[in-house]
Amino acid sequence: MMENLNCDVLIKNIGQLLTVPSKNGPISNPNRESLGIIENAYISIKNGEIKDIGEGESNIQAKNIIDAEGCIALPGFIDSHTHLIFAGKREKEFSMRVNGKDYMEIMKEGGGIRSTVNSTRLASEDELFNESLKRLNIALSWGTTTCEVKSGYGLSTKDEIKMLEVANMLQKNHEIDVIATFLGAHDIPEEYNGNRKSYIDLVINEMIPEVSERKSARFCDVFCEEGVFNKEESEKVLKEGLKYGLKAKIHVDEFVNIGGCELAESVHAISCDHLLFTKEEGLISMKKAGSIAVLLPGTSLYLMNKKIPPVDKIREQNVPIAIASDFNPGSSPIIAMSVIMSLSCLLYRLTPEEALIGATINAAWALKEERSRGSLESGKLADIVIMDLRNYEEIPYWFAQNRINYVIKRGKIVAGKKGGRLS
Ligand SMILES: [Zn+2]
Repeated sequence: MMENLNCDVLIKNIGQLLTVPSKNGPISNPNRESLGIIENAYISIKNGEIKDIGEGESNIQAKNIIDAEGCIALPGFIDSHTHLIFAGKREKEFSMRVNGKDYMEIMKEGGGIRSTVNSTRLASEDELFNESLKRLNIALSWGTTTCEVKSGYGLSTKDEIKMLEVANMLQKNHEIDVIATFLGAHDIPEEYNGNRKSYIDLVINEMIPEVSERKSARFCDVFCEEGVFNKEESEKVLKEGLKYGLKAKIHVDEFVNIGGCELAESVHAISCDHLLFTKEEGLISMKKAGSIAVLLPGTSLYLMNKKIPPVDKIREQNVPIAIASDFNPGSSPIIAMSVIMSLSCLLYRLTPEEALIGATINAAWALKEERSRGSLESGKLADIVIMDLRNYEEIPYWFAQNRINYVIKRGKIVAGKKGGRLS
C-alpha cells in the first residue's frame, strides 16, 4: 500500500477504457474483443508511465486526480504518416482540382510537390520550426501524442538535412513525440530534369550517409510511383537506407500499380502506405515482411479519388491496418486523427474497431514504437486521451467534432477542453 501512495496521477471514473492490448504483434481483422474494453475503470500513473489499470473504485492515493466523469479513455493517437514540415500553402490547387484538374496534371503545371519544394527551400529553419510548431499544437488538441514527420520537400542535401533538423528541434520542444523519416526520394527536383540517375546517386551517395551520420531519421521512405521513382530505383534507395540503419517505408500504389508493393519483402518494409491499387502479390509480399498497411483516407477525400484500397483482400491476407493523416499542404490538409478515423470508415469501409486499432496500436507498430506506446498497459507511456463520449463507436460517428476533454502525455495534462495546458 505504501507504494500506492507514490502514484503521481490517478484517472478515475473512466466509463469505457479502451486498452487495445497487443502482446504478439500487430492486430489484423480486429473485432470488439480486440479493444480490451474495461467498463468503469481507473488508471494510475507514475513517472510518466502507466502503473496500474483496474476496474471499479480505486483506493490508490495520488498527488493528482483526474475525474473522467464516465467518459471514454484510450491511447493517445499515433499519426504514423505525415509531411508536417513545409512552407507555403496550396489552396490554389484545391481550386484547380475542384475545377476538374487531377493530381498528375497539376504536377505537370508546376504545382504539386514541386511548389512546396520551392517554398521550403526558401524558408529558414526558424520559419519552418515556428509553422510546424503551430501545426503540432493543433494535432495535440485533437489527441495526437506521437507523430511521424517526413522530409522530402528539400530534395537537396542541405535542405533535406534542414527539414530533419527541424523535426528534431520539434521533438525537443513539443509535447508530441516526433519521429523523423528521410524522404529524399519524394520527387526528382527540377534541376535534375532529364538526369534522374544523378539525383538518385545524390540520394544514395550523399544524403543517406549524411542523414545516418547525424542520426537525424529513423526511416527511409520513397515515392514509388509511375512518373516518380520506379520499382528498381526505389529498391536501390531503400536498400542503401537499410545499409545505413534506416528502416524502410514505401509510398506505393497511390495512382497506378507498378509492382512496388512487391518490394516489401526484399526491403523488410515496416509499412507500405496508400495501397489504392495494390494486388494480391503485393499483399503477400507485405505479409511475408510483416509490413503494416498504412491507409490514408484524407488523401482520397482531397484528391476526390473514387478508388479505394482493396480492404477485403488486405483482411484476407491478415495484413494489419494502420490509418494516418498523410497531413501535407497538397493532398491532405487534415491533421485530426478522429477525422481520419471517420474517413477510414466512410470512404474505405473500415469498421470502427479497425479504425481505432489503426490509429493506436497498429500505428505504433508502423513506427516500431509498439513496446512503449499504442496501448494502455502497465509499463507503457501514459499517453492517454479522455473524450466526452460514452462509447468508442462515437469517435468516428461524430464527424470532425473535437470531443477531447484531456490529452495526457507522459502523465501530464497537456491539452483538452477540461485540462488546458498545465506544464
Ligand atoms: Zn505521404
